[in-house]
Amino acid sequence: MAASKIVDSDSPKEAAMIRPRVDAAEKLIGVRQEALNGQAFVMLVDYMGNDDAVVQAARVSYGKGTKTARDDAGLIRYLMRHRHTTPFEMVEFKFAMQIPIFVARQWIRHRTANVNEYSLRYSEAKDIAYIPEPRAVAPQSKSNRQGREGQLPPEVVGAFTNDVREHSKRSYELYKKYLDAGVARELARIVLPVNFSTEWYWKIDLHNLFHFLGLRLDAHAQYEIREIAGAIAKIVKAVVPVCYQAFEDFTLNAISLSKKEEGALTAIMGGATIEEACASAGLQLTRADGKEIKTGEGPEFLDKLSKIRAAAMLRDVSMV
Ligand SMILES: Cc1cc2nc3c(=O)[nH]c(=O)nc-3n(C[C@H](O)[C@H](O)[C@H](O)COP(=O)(O)OP(=O)(O)OC[C@H]3O[C@@H](n4cnc5c(N)ncnc54)[C@H](O)[C@@H]3O)c2cc1C
Repeated sequence: MAASKIVDSDSPKEAAMIRPRVDAAEKLIGVRQEALNGQAFVMLVDYMGNDDAVVQAARVSYGKGTKTARDDAGLIRYLMRHRHTTPFEMVEFKFAMQIPIFVARQWIRHRTANVNEYSLRYSEAKDIAYIPEPRAVAPQSKSNRQGREGQLPPEVVGAFTNDVREHSKRSYELYKKYLDAGVARELARIVLPVNFSTEWYWKIDLHNLFHFLGLRLDAHAQYEIREIAGAIAKIVKAVVPVCYQAFEDFTLNAISLSKKEEGALTAIMGGATIEEACASAGLQLTRADGKEIKTGEGPEFLDKLSKIRAAAMLRDVSMV
């Protein structure tokens, strides 16, 4: 568990309230955690609470009884498993970050955070534009309409990155030109594309941060926000290692099955083929004309099945 204890007793009135301090987290305060090849960063500004703060809050509701039954890590894992989420709201994080505007547009959709953003009405835009690394430039995915997948010819990758660089340079020159000509900052900025950077302070509690990370570390999230969410995750892990482990085990890397999926899995374990099992459970894998379906419940079940198979093979289980 974390370095310091906040409470000596179950009652908040009697508790010796010592501000928790996590050595690993203290070392991260004010240190840039870079992402996107150094073109974005997140930085821990402050934090309130640690693993013990979650335990402290939970013991207020569960009382002494739990103390003997479970150790602190066990209690945290119980809370996460049973979605008793409010104790996780007792821990708060404040980050400073610099991220591309197109990533910020996705980030801001997470409404449970407090945000204060650099104003391009008040201040001048910085000449910081995201140029994707060649390995991040890929074609439109055929199975995921929102994603990218596969490889492009090197000449297309090279031309794209060069053009993005040129376009960014030209846009910033235009921006400066019209600032110099007296156009107001709030209007001149409209010539800047969304790969330019913004900066903000972002404050959020641990429960909502886990919700954010669950969505934005997922393979379905855009590569760029995933990378920056990854930098946030490293910080969170340092501040609340036990909570983070529980989040990884019960949310991030967990597989949940719908009623239909459970039925199909049971049928497979009973000897049915995947096609038979999916058909009997109502999980569609092909269209009426026999063509394979690429998205939807059926293909998503196949993804889950391959993860279960991989895990079963690791454990030498021959059921699925
Ligand atoms: C892979 C991916 C693709 C996406 N594609 C699109 C897209 O194409 N278009 C698009 O517009 N968005 C898209 N989004 C954004 C998505 O719809 C959500 O807006 C975003 O993920 C924030 O999720 P949230 O509302 O759960 O989070 P938060 O805003 O952080 O809210 C957390 C939780 O608080 C509760 N909550 C917060 N505010 C309210 C409220 N006003 N009323 C009721 N409950 C509330 C909800 O339970 C919510 O889940 C996408 C997101 C992802 C991850």
